[in-house]
Amino acid sequence: MSNFDWNDHPFGRALLTLERPGRYIGGEWNEIHKENPSSLLRIALVYPELYELGMSNLGLAIIYHVLNSHPKVYAERAYLLWLDAIEFMRRNRIPLFSLETKTPLREFDLIGISMHTELNYTNLLLTLDLANVPLKSDERSKGDPLVMLGGPCALNPEPLKRFVDFFVLGEAEQAVLEIVDPLLAWKNREITRDEVLAELAKIEGVFVPRYPKDRVRRRIAPLERKFFPIKQLVPNVEAVHNRFVIEIMRGCTRGCRFCEGGMVYRPIRIRDVDEVVEIAVEGVKATGFREIGLLAFTVSDYPDLEALIVKLKNALPHIDLSLPSLPINAISKELLDILADLSKFGITLAPETASERLRGVINKNVPLDEIFTSIRIAEERNWPSVKLYFMVGLPTETEDDVNETVKLLETIARTARRIRVRASFGTFVPRPHTPFQWVEQRMPDEMESVIHMIRRKLRRYRRLRISAHDPYQSALEGVFARGDERLADVLLEAYRLGAQFDDRRETFDFSIWEQAFENIGIDWREYLRPRELDEKLPWHYVDTGLFNAFLRLEYKRSLRGEYTMDCMRSRCNGCGPWYREGYELCRTGYVQKQKLESIEIAKLEAKPTKRVQYLVVYSKMPPASALGHNDTVRLIIQGFARAGWEFSYTEGFVKRPRISAGPSLALGATSEVELLVVESVKEYEPEKILPKLQSEMPDGIRLISIERLSRPLNWSEIKGSIYLFTLSDGRKVRVEVRHGGKKLRDYIEELKPIAVHRIGYL
Ligand code: SF4
Repeated sequence: MSNFDWNDHPFGRALLTLERPGRYIGGEWNEIHKENPSSLLRIALVYPELYELGMSNLGLAIIYHVLNSHPKVYAERAYLLWLDAIEFMRRNRIPLFSLETKTPLREFDLIGISMHTELNYTNLLLTLDLANVPLKSDERSKGDPLVMLGGPCALNPEPLKRFVDFFVLGEAEQAVLEIVDPLLAWKNREITRDEVLAELAKIEGVFVPRYPKDRVRRRIAPLERKFFPIKQLVPNVEAVHNRFVIEIMRGCTRGCRFCEGGMVYRPIRIRDVDEVVEIAVEGVKATGFREIGLLAFTVSDYPDLEALIVKLKNALPHIDLSLPSLPINAISKELLDILADLSKFGITLAPETASERLRGVINKNVPLDEIFTSIRIAEERNWPSVKLYFMVGLPTETEDDVNETVKLLETIARTARRIRVRASFGTFVPRPHTPFQWVEQRMPDEMESVIHMIRRKLRRYRRLRISAHDPYQSALEGVFARGDERLADVLLEAYRLGAQFDDRRETFDFSIWEQAFENIGIDWREYLRPRELDEKLPWHYVDTGLFNAFLRLEYKRSLRGEYTMDCMRSRCNGCGPWYREGYELCRTGYVQKQKLESIEIAKLEAKPTKRVQYLVVYSKMPPASALGHNDTVRLIIQGFARAGWEFSYTEGFVKRPRISAGPSLALGATSEVELLVVESVKEYEPEKILPKLQSEMPDGIRLISIERLSRPLNWSEIKGSIYLFTLSDGRKVRVEVRHGGKKLRDYIEELKPIAVHRIGYL
């Protein structure tokens, strides 16, 4: 029985009036709780975007796991709230709080923010503002938490350094443990705020704006198993990625000259096949996810990809695999045929441009034939779609280059017979720490015209869908990516004028930014200009490990359109000092360890010999009443999976557990008669299995009974629901709502109950 009380939540019952309230209740499966939190170093880890995005971020999940593995630390989470909830908080003076203990962020010792895009910079200010923490670090005093920032954007700290007390540069798995002792000394008042910052500045990879250094090295962490979270959180609300994620490889050596990640996450580190399989098996058991996402910059570069897929499929036959793109060239036709479940993800390719010359400039050494091969493979197998990513505004790009891309898409549109082709266009943004950090970014109005021209030329092809990022968002991203300290004033001004959630089209307004730049007296166009090779760049003191000479050489080669070969398949290009530091691939190149003699995957039984149906009756009370119907069913089914329930699966390409849910319950309503039919290939004794299943249920869900059905349940026999409304004067009113008749929401509108409880069916 849940002992949740609405008074335990800062929003109280008003939570249920907000859009997708499940975002704000916390209590996810695998959420971490610790005894006596006030005696520990309290850290609030914040992803400055909505729950659905933040919960899908593996980096933050790793840091949550690593920090909580320290016995003297308690790390909790917070995400930004959507506009309706923000408005509610401001109106009721409720400060931003953590999901685990609902503690206001102001009461933490440290607020750690993970920043992945410049378009979330205003969200950093919004986070601090909602938390009642002074925005500028020099305005914070004794009782205020320290503010730490990590993630990819930390590699140019300049635009944010007035708001952040210290940055962690690079991969933070080890650095976040090294900061604990000084922070504990500060918490215990052994040292002052100023002294702790001085101590933190001594740690490799930590940049403290108050104590600047000539050189700060980015941290590089080993891909060790102990750092990887097995008990990943199960989102309350369908997240962007709703699966168990495993990072199989970190880094990329292909050398695309525009790609900051590909440059700064070197050297490449590879997780062993057997370790990935072990993590997958344990992770699925701990979470109940039905899908595993294999994560790497370029999955097809994983040297033992076939062996990995075969082993995973044999270890977890009912689990779907998802890959960021289908590695057509890295797995055999035989395996492609077996892995029919990959088909649902379609094919994703990023040629960037069809111009051969321009591909030399950007070092995208992928033949265009691959696109046609992929489309043929997909069409032969009746797969639904192919997604292609292109960029406009690439260095040295001319109209002829753009026309080549248009022609390529025309050819694809004419030759594709069944498949849908989606082409997405982004604007090139020169990023720090890449060979293109010196080049010009083209103006957004020009890029808008180019995209308009592409759309116009291709609009007659029905099989082709064109989408494009807003070039003005890319311009803003480019301004801040290579920005300097002066932009802090612009950021504050834009925030004051109402800029927030700039990464979302519906909330992005470039006119606010133009006004902010004008008010501060800075021309934003100046930040898109090319830089001189000998110019001191704002991030000059950040040492990513790449030799500056390597970046300059790559820049010069790009101007000549010369390719640089991928060092995994060719010789070392001497990009950094890592080949001296014991990283296997930096010395030996491409190494395949597990050679497969044959591809054998245990066949799933096409038709199970036994299919037993069980009717599950459960109650849904707070906080689960804040979950939508589909999320509730998903969480219950994941609980069944964790309890070891042997599902019966649907036939066909993509296998699903056979379940069917009774009439859906309105968000916010409670019930003691929810119905769910779950099939199994096994006979269970209800009284024995029930406690085990109950122990895996989310807070607020109680399994009342489970009984074997002698005949399939016909949901159409249910003609409606019976509710008990509690009115504001305490009266209880019984309301019968028939399918096809007056709607529940009409009764609610009319009677204005303070609580709605389902008690039975008609
Ligand atoms: S040092 Fe050589 S082998 Fe290692 S990542 Fe750089 S180019 Fe590749």
